[in-house]
Amino acid sequence: MIHPTKYKILESTGIQGIYDFGNEEFYEITFRITDYCNYDCSYCHWKYGNHYNFDDIKASITKAIENINHNNFRIYFHGGEATTHPKCRDIIDYVFTLDANIIVEFQTNLSVGKKYIQTLIDRYKDQKFEVNVSYHHKFVKDFKNLKEKIDLIYNNGMLGKIDIMLEHDINHVNNIIKNSKDLLQEPYKNKIELIHGFIDFENTTNMYQLFINEYCKGVYEENYEITHEDGIKKIHDTNDLYQDGISFQGWKCAVGKKYIILNGNGDFYMCASNSLDTKPAGNILKNTILFKIKANNYTKCKWNCCKGEFYIEKYK
Ligand code: SF4
Ligand code: SF4
Repeated sequence: MIHPTKYKILESTGIQGIYDFGNEEFYEITFRITDYCNYDCSYCHWKYGNHYNFDDIKASITKAIENINHNNFRIYFHGGEATTHPKCRDIIDYVFTLDANIIVEFQTNLSVGKKYIQTLIDRYKDQKFEVNVSYHHKFVKDFKNLKEKIDLIYNNGMLGKIDIMLEHDINHVNNIIKNSKDLLQEPYKNKIELIHGFIDFENTTNMYQLFINEYCKGVYEENYEITHEDGIKKIHDTNDLYQDGISFQGWKCAVGKKYIILNGNGDFYMCASNSLDTKPAGNILKNTILFKIKANNYTKCKWNCCKGEFYIEKYK
């Protein structure tokens, strides 16, 4: 576990997303409209639940926008798999009617068909709507078809990012590398991030390491300068921090002030670390005042391992 004495967020390599707010401040909401997914990734916690109720979803996001002291919002639809919610597109429609400057970042495993994707393109081509695709090889029956869908999104100017999830399972490694190379030849190479925080390189294979060294220069990567307890400064990326573990316990964190996780039933969490094994920080539909306090202030970190929002500022 890393116990940093200083933490600095560095500029990323590659490009994530299409839209931004220029130099203006904005607020990010990770928004879950469902806790169900049609895939069963071993590293995922958000696949066993149900879809949230349409009216609760609308009420939750409306109250959030009303009670956060910002006008610019990045709303990140995150897993479960949002497209499995039967009202998914109605929910996106609704989000764009809210009285704020909104970018929708739509995370999907892209298991839906081309027709569905075309409806997203047709419906949101005039909105700030961008699609983040995650490639989970084990569940993709036809990679060629998946790539055609990615190309369709890219050619319509809607591709925000691709996450390639590197699988532990040795039976899949060759095909994942082969297919990844296909994606890495495309002009969207700089939007691809290799997610390998779950891979135990020493006990599996060095094929991924060789592949990354040889083919993955210029892909998307978030970097951090960390001063370790012995005073030595090192550059880490997101994958390193997942692998090694990092603790900001007692630090002031900008979750709350700039970021929150909101479920479609009104439950909210300050960050991923406390969304897995503890109760929510509150429920916006039951106690809006608590939400307002939590969502407009910095948070003193009480978690001994940070599990995700590395890109949010933290101060000792
Ligand atoms: S596709 Fe995404 S939401 Fe679904 S099980 Fe995998 S990681 Fe979880
Ligand atoms: S665990 Fe949560 S509160 Fe603590 S530093 Fe990480 S993101 Fe911030």
